[in-house]
Amino acid sequence: MRADYLIIGQGISGTLLSRSLIQSGKTVVVVDDGNIAAASKVASGIINPVTGKRLVKTWMIDELLPFAKNTYNEIEREFSIPVISQCNILDFHLTRDAAQVFNERTGDEKEYLRQADESNWAEHFRFNYGIGEIDPCFLVDIKALLDTWRAYLVANNALLEAKFSHNDCLINEGSASYKGILAEKIIYCDGAVGADNPYFNMLPWSKDKGEALIASIPGLPANKIYKQGINIVPWHDGLFWIGATHDWKFIDMLPSASFRKQTEEHLNYWLKLPFTIVDHLVAARPVNVERKPFVGLHPLMPSIGIFNGMGTKGCSVAPYFAHQFAQHLVHGTPLLPDVDVKRFKNILSR
Ligand SMILES: Cc1cc2nc3c(=O)[nH]c(=O)nc-3n(C[C@H](O)[C@H](O)[C@H](O)COP(=O)(O)OP(=O)(O)OC[C@H]3O[C@@H](n4cnc5c(N)ncnc54)[C@H](O)[C@@H]3O)c2cc1C
Repeated sequence: MRADYLIIGQGISGTLLSRSLIQSGKTVVVVDDGNIAAASKVASGIINPVTGKRLVKTWMIDELLPFAKNTYNEIEREFSIPVISQCNILDFHLTRDAAQVFNERTGDEKEYLRQADESNWAEHFRFNYGIGEIDPCFLVDIKALLDTWRAYLVANNALLEAKFSHNDCLINEGSASYKGILAEKIIYCDGAVGADNPYFNMLPWSKDKGEALIASIPGLPANKIYKQGINIVPWHDGLFWIGATHDWKFIDMLPSASFRKQTEEHLNYWLKLPFTIVDHLVAARPVNVERKPFVGLHPLMPSIGIFNGMGTKGCSVAPYFAHQFAQHLVHGTPLLPDVDVKRFKNILSR
């Protein structure tokens, strides 16, 4: 079997890159092992345009957000599925200081920050310092996106459901061959395990374990994201996703009893509604020290590429750079130097 590109991984990165390449008239085979603990399957899917205690705009959001919305809207039309919806964050200030910062910033950041009507929420939550609203925020239904794209790949004989092994892949100057598939290039979209990829393990990776609980909270409206240290986010089947942690020094990828206990205690205080925990999810985020994605071809081995390092923001970052990378591969247009993996030429040449 021949394909222009062999893509390893069908998380949000592999999904959007393979779609962009197909849109550009190329053929792909995607290899994915269906791991249920992949970051894309555990993520809540928030696109929040502001970040940090100072609520500043996130990196490149003015370019990334319109592009992401447009991409997800196109997929919605193409497959008749809902993918993206507006879902603002209600920020229940944890402290008087946090409330003050938010209130001050509403003056400077009129595009995204405003006060929320507190009276609507007193029957659902306990809070002492008011509520700010981040408006607009968006929620991506990653499950719908991944499941739909997987079905499309299967229908087009373009998915190999298996664990990829580097030992079985032969890389030559102008090709990569794997178990009877001959491709011009192989592109790794393998998420956090990319840190162990023999061609890219020298990049400045930093793994970040994230945990979330899935709960039933009858009576809580599913049209907002509720934030007070943790986020309560509308999930599938009428449930809510509650999280998440950032653990950079983890020793295993198991769900931790301490996270569950702490989160339940917090919910017991914050929520006036009864809740029932039904699941506990864990995944490693593909994070890098620089907080910018790894995009492009290996500086010494041009038949190998990488599309990874989406960190905590795959939903907003991946659509824009999947398109940019596909254009680069097909038409030779330049990559943004901030994301081009050639910025690590020296360490990748060792
Ligand atoms: C708890 C948590 C909450 C998050 N919340 C958000 C959020 O609200 N908004 C947001 O934008 N981002 C969020 N993120 C980050 C987001 O999940 C990532 O940025 C994004 O999912 C990364 O996607 P990816 O496709 O690069 O990697 P992954 O999702 O990890 O996909 C990699 C794929 O490759 C496959 N694979 C790997 N190795 C092999 C192999 N050897 N053979 C075959 N297949 C293989 C895996 O099975 C997987 O399907 C969150 C992450 C976590 C953990």
